[in-house]
Amino acid sequence: MDIRIERASHACSACNQPFRDGEELITALKQVDPTPAYKRFDICSRCFPKYDQTGLHCFWENTHSAKRRSPLLDSDTLWQVFHRCQPGASENVESAEFAYVAALGLMRLKHLALESTRKTAGGEYLVLRTKGKEKALFEVRDPNLDETGIERVQERLADIDAAVNNTTTESKRISRQ
Ligand SMILES: [Zn+2]
Repeated sequence: MDIRIERASHACSACNQPFRDGEELITALKQVDPTPAYKRFDICSRCFPKYDQTGLHCFWENTHSAKRRSPLLDSDTLWQVFHRCQPGASENVESAEFAYVAALGLMRLKHLALESTRKTAGGEYLVLRTKGKEKALFEVRDPNLDETGIERVQERLADIDAAVNNTTTESKRISRQ
């Protein structure tokens, strides 16, 4: 499966003002054809209140960082992987594994919290919710990975991210909470 992670922009998608290191902004994804493909927009906090949100798949609060973070500790990358893989996680093993590992990372960064689990004939699902005012619920299939399996997926995720960003990234382990 091809996961394309778009790089963070260095300037606001609306007003073109360059971001400062540590500046808070909004990252939004818009679904484009062929699905599931998303176009990324980074919007400064001055522009976002008047930004046209029609057709946005999702958006989240983000912080501009001048230096590159490990993809497994970078909420930005984890959210993109999660949103790309989570919709297909019921049918596709690889999607389920990526979505699950991204969800573990987002829980560790406290962007997502475990609400409950749900058992079906097809397997077990984690029900996750976002923190903050606008609570959204997501379900992700538990792919039943052991520690070694989790590491394997994390390494693959770091590889994809490094390939996309053409830079070496250190891989850090995220363990089950
Ligand atoms: Zn702006």
